[in-house]
Amino acid sequence: MSVAYIALGANLGDPAATVNAAFTALAGLPQTTLTARSALYRTAPVGIVDQPEFINAAARITTDLAPEALLDELLAIEQRFGRIRAERNGPRTLDLDILLYDELVIDTPRLTLPHPRLHLRAFVLYPLADLATDLALPGRGSLAAWLPAVANQGIIRA
Ligand code: ADP
Ligand code: MG
Repeated sequence: MSVAYIALGANLGDPAATVNAAFTALAGLPQTTLTARSALYRTAPVGIVDQPEFINAAARITTDLAPEALLDELLAIEQRFGRIRAERNGPRTLDLDILLYDELVIDTPRLTLPHPRLHLRAFVLYPLADLATDLALPGRGSLAAWLPAVANQGIIRA
């Protein structure tokens, strides 16, 4: 069994309903148990600012799926929710990213772990902190140490 943390994000349609349904979809993955879910957060878009605000959250799972198999499952859930893959950082029905998978550090064309931008983004760090305040980020120290640096990014508990 491995422990993985998943980021959930949505900003089209009814994003809170989508994120809640995505938690249910995660709970239904094969060889996987959903063990914790964060609060929902409302966050301002990053990059392309002329788009609706996001709902972001994080989940902790235990899984026997290998990292690449887990990524395939997440991309399949995104597809089921009708994600249209257009511009990077652009609007999306649902985005599911693997933040951490055990202490694994990998960098392949398909999968980078830990997620490369996780420590820079309030919309990832705040939900993650709900799940584990004392979480260690492989190669980057503790999650708690990164929180002050992102406190100025617009994020509020939904
Ligand atoms: P982003 O999440 O960066 O806005 P996408 O969701 O369109 O962009 O993801 C593009 C690709 O990023 C995915 O098809 C996947 O192969 C790759 N990727 C690399 N590392 C990860 C990760 N840790 N979690 C999810 N996807 C990842
Ligand atoms: Mg993604």
